[in-house]
Amino acid sequence: MPKNGDQYLSSLKDGRSIFLDGALIENHVDHPAFRASVRSAASLYDFQARSENLRKMTFPSPTTGLPVSRMWQLPTSYSELVERRSALEAWAELSCGFMGRSPDHVASALSGMYMGLELFRAHGERYAQALASYYEYARDSDLYLTYAIVNPQADRGKGVGEQASEFVAAGVVDEDEEGITLQGAKMLATACPMANEVMVAAIQPLKPGDEKYSFTAMVPMNAKGLKLLSRKSYEAAAVSRFDNPLSSIFDENDSVLYFDSVKVPWSRVFVHHDVAMASAQWHQTPAHVFQNYQCQIRLMAKMRFLLGLARKVTETNGIIGIPSVRETLGQMAAEVSLVEGMIEAMEISGSHYGKYFTPNPRRLYSAMVLSQQLYPKFVHQLRELAGGGMIMLPSSASDFANPEIAGYIDKTQRSPATDSLGRVKLFKLAWDAVGSEFGSRHLQYEMFYAGANMVTRGHAFRTCNWEQATDMVDQFMSTYCERDQKG
Ligand SMILES: Cc1cc2nc3c(=O)[nH]c(=O)nc-3n(C[C@H](O)[C@H](O)[C@H](O)COP(=O)(O)OP(=O)(O)OC[C@H]3O[C@@H](n4cnc5c(N)ncnc54)[C@H](O)[C@@H]3O)c2cc1C
Repeated sequence: MPKNGDQYLSSLKDGRSIFLDGALIENHVDHPAFRASVRSAASLYDFQARSENLRKMTFPSPTTGLPVSRMWQLPTSYSELVERRSALEAWAELSCGFMGRSPDHVASALSGMYMGLELFRAHGERYAQALASYYEYARDSDLYLTYAIVNPQADRGKGVGEQASEFVAAGVVDEDEEGITLQGAKMLATACPMANEVMVAAIQPLKPGDEKYSFTAMVPMNAKGLKLLSRKSYEAAAVSRFDNPLSSIFDENDSVLYFDSVKVPWSRVFVHHDVAMASAQWHQTPAHVFQNYQCQIRLMAKMRFLLGLARKVTETNGIIGIPSVRETLGQMAAEVSLVEGMIEAMEISGSHYGKYFTPNPRRLYSAMVLSQQLYPKFVHQLRELAGGGMIMLPSSASDFANPEIAGYIDKTQRSPATDSLGRVKLFKLAWDAVGSEFGSRHLQYEMFYAGANMVTRGHAFRTCNWEQATDMVDQFMSTYCERDQKG
């Protein structure tokens, strides 16, 4: 059987140093700030381990023959790519798209790196061997990985090597025959409480002289010296499941990572002291494409969910028959379909990278640019349709337990489509999705998880088929000259 939720939860009880609200948390798995969210992650493993889901969600490990998650599958054809996608889509649906860094995200990046093993071989045999054996280990143990690949903001007007002190951003402070030692911070690693290990790497451009910041290493969450500095827990702040239906269970906490002299053995180092390789590992292998393809699949599930919310809000408020409301819903439906269509397009126009079949980068980067811009607009439309209904709500579910207040709730929460409880339940869900602190963090996430929009537009520029476009212009201009008469 593949790994199940209980096995996964036990694997998290590893003594990691996670700090929250002024304290070092002991046993974060059962702590009120993380408890329900790590169990939501566990439910992904339970889902894939169910006998009726085995075929859809898993494939046999090439080394052990045992079923492991399809997130590790390396597709060699269009149909395998689509088969893998339906597993990722099924996982995304379980969190209505609200778990952005579910295990399939970094697994997709690592699988993409593995597809580009030859590039790592050119960087050094030792690094290729480390990557190959780590990929197999992670796959066969169905590990939950996260990553921290961006440096802390500090002074963004200066390069990583020009900051006020040498190790604001994590870098290699020392190395010996056993491995490297890391010192400094990485900006964020989402899902730190849920992950078994973190990939630490650099994706922002580096220049000669920045070699100490150009490394890729796999670090267990309980590594000596690794400090996880958690942001505020929305799960802890959630009033109840009814009041905060999403933040109470899907809060994949983002943490700043501080490496305080963390030793990493060479067997877990894939890139070292090479600024060109730090970039090539993402863009000259399918890694970046695979990780962001997973993001679009997850976003598709989320947008379908938000579309469903928008429709139910308009039915609940009795405005579904108004032509302009139907137009707004039609616009939102078209936007969901755009994301769905882009995913289908990436797949159908995919191509071979060696023996592996990979999504079309040009379609992917277009989808990233457009969906980063689309999400805030999409959320805005939902807010516009919902009006003050997301605010005109009882303070908490406890109000229903007081007969006097419950009576007033019944008189004030009216709807042509549902009773007062149904109305409150729906609008509390809508607010948690788009208006609560959790919902607002999601807006920031969709806008920035893969870099600011200028970054994704840069990728679209880099991968565009310019020749096709400019050839058409040249071809057309060659059909006339300054001596030609009109007509
Ligand atoms: C919710 C959330 C979760 C995240 N999770 C992870 C994670 O799990 N792992 C991880 O590695 N990272 C994670 N990140 C970090 C993410 O990768 C970065 O936020 C992203 O790369 C953008 O970098 P930045 O935030 O430093 O923004 P900046 O690069 O500082 O950009 C912010 C703004 O500054 C301006 N700006 C900055 N530089 C320039 C320039 N050169 N030219 C023009 N304008 C400029 C632009 O207006 C830009 O929008 C997460 C971020 C968020 C918000």
